[in-house]
Amino acid sequence: MKNISDLPRLPLGLYPTPFYKLESVSKRYGRDVYIKRDDLCGVALGGNKVRKLEFLLAQAKADGCDTVFTTGGVQSNHAALTAACAARLGMKAVLVLKGRETGERRGNLVLDDLYGAEVHMVDAESYEEIYGEMRRRSAELAAQGHKGCLIPLGGSTPLGSVGYVNCVREFTVQAMAAGVRIDHIVSATGSGGTTAGLLLGARLFQPGAKVTGVAVSGDPFDKIVPELAAGAAEILDCASAGNPGDFEMVENVGAGYAVPNPQDTSYIRALAWDEGILLDPVYTGKAYSKLCQMLESGNLSGDGAVVFVHTGGAAALFAMDLG
Ligand SMILES: *Cc1c(COP(=O)(O)O)cnc(C)c1O
Repeated sequence: MKNISDLPRLPLGLYPTPFYKLESVSKRYGRDVYIKRDDLCGVALGGNKVRKLEFLLAQAKADGCDTVFTTGGVQSNHAALTAACAARLGMKAVLVLKGRETGERRGNLVLDDLYGAEVHMVDAESYEEIYGEMRRRSAELAAQGHKGCLIPLGGSTPLGSVGYVNCVREFTVQAMAAGVRIDHIVSATGSGGTTAGLLLGARLFQPGAKVTGVAVSGDPFDKIVPELAAGAAEILDCASAGNPGDFEMVENVGAGYAVPNPQDTSYIRALAWDEGILLDPVYTGKAYSKLCQMLESGNLSGDGAVVFVHTGGAAALFAMDLG
């Protein structure tokens, strides 16, 4: 197996992020619940995309690219963080966002503008159409002597997923120092790369722990996540097979992707009040609410710690109403 530290990586975030016990939550559910604060990763409002971008943008730089194209929904955290990281690296960011132009600028669109990103909204039916538009614009730039790289939705490629293998490696050291045995790792799943990295990371550094992804859209993650994990394993030159039952997808989509779910709001409020931690209604609120419901119903096996990976997303609180 390769050492992750030997792969090309740009130090964009401030790592390690904090890892600690949620005292109030642990008391409420009678189970040790820890949080990995990847929302506090030192870039903008934080979030999981930075760990992926450390690897993806290192590759882009190595390839001689001066422009980064990416996509997502209109309020994409991934697009905003890509713009932030590209700006720091002196690269131009072109965001081709899937949605209708309303003229309104809230949440991440305010931030995209601050980072000087070029933003285009395309009211497309599918991301295939968006990728076509990205390729067309990239070819246009190439004719002017620029070189663009295309980062897909959520940065969820095998290389991007390696960022979350690295995250497990990081909190394994923190857990060992704190004498914590981990039974469960839970996180939101939007395009799959984070859960894939957590899964491969757990297989490498936390064998025995189970990874649960909480889907916030209807995509077939049972298939997507293991495929991305296998791709990441190929990059790291290691085996990707795990133990039976070490991975599960559950879902909390509600009325749809990026539609706040009224049932989640009390959990979002409770964590804000009790711990001063902000969750968003699109990803982390849906994942955390599902985790609490699993804790309430005693659905989590074993008696070791449960780790909730906080993946960021707070900008959504300034772009939409809670459910
Ligand atoms: C993108 C995102 C996720 C989902 O991560 P994927 O790797 O796309 O599955 C979770 N939480 C937040 C806040 C995100 O922006």
